[in-house]
Amino acid sequence: MHMGKLLKKKDKTLSAIRQAKRYAFLSSLGILSPASGRCLICGDERASLMWGGLCEKCSVNIIPNAGSTCEKCGRQLIAEEKYCETCRERERCFDRAYSCFVYEGAARQLVTRFKYGKAPYIARQMAEDMANLYIEADLSCSVIVPSPSSLERIKERGYDHIAVLSEILSKYIRIPVVYGAVVKKKENKSQAGLKGREREENVQGVYAKGENWERLRGAYVLIVDDVLTTGATASAIAEIAKKCGAKGVKVLTFASTRYSGVHSGGEREEL
Ligand SMILES: [Zn+2]
Ligand SMILES: [Zn+2]
Repeated sequence: MHMGKLLKKKDKTLSAIRQAKRYAFLSSLGILSPASGRCLICGDERASLMWGGLCEKCSVNIIPNAGSTCEKCGRQLIAEEKYCETCRERERCFDRAYSCFVYEGAARQLVTRFKYGKAPYIARQMAEDMANLYIEADLSCSVIVPSPSSLERIKERGYDHIAVLSEILSKYIRIPVVYGAVVKKKENKSQAGLKGREREENVQGVYAKGENWERLRGAYVLIVDDVLTTGATASAIAEIAKKCGAKGVKVLTFASTRYSGVHSGGEREEL
């Protein structure tokens, strides 16, 4: 690679790390906090007993990711099966993925507000739920690797939402966040709107070892992301983490799509 290009790439990675640290600092000061006690979706003042972040009305629409779930990617299944079709047919580089809610209804509204609504404070409630699942499922990891976002999208949003989420989660579960170990080496199209195979092709060659890669040698990595759809992104990041020498790689997301074979990356959608 041309030297100038290489330096530019390094600059980009460093600025992403700096930005993530800045937001971590802001969040630790409580600057990202909204007025408390209000529903994170509609703003109603009454909080629900069912789910801390929402009012009675909105909490009816949050669906726990429970019942029959894929034993690899963790997505909710429609039938009593061990694995979803995607995990049966394709190699997954992570050991196991877990998520708190089904990516529908209130969980979907929350993620949308968190990502596009200049509402980084939603991360607090999301991280709390993720921490509870981390403890309940006994994930026992040693470092968090945030799913890297593209710099362009970070600029659009005004914050690296996954870094914010990871930092708060890190405080709950007391393991450090490692930036710059797995990095985006090229920009790709947004995964939204792409189907199973397209999603896999779209993440191919996108991630690479960054200058902090040695921090993952011998580590038990927890990849953190907001949503798991087909698991293509998580698998691509896990592949790099394992190349860095990680001993194990688990994935924790706030929500995941329900596996139906039609919308969720199964073969049938490609017919
Ligand atoms: Zn509400
Ligand atoms: Zn699966």
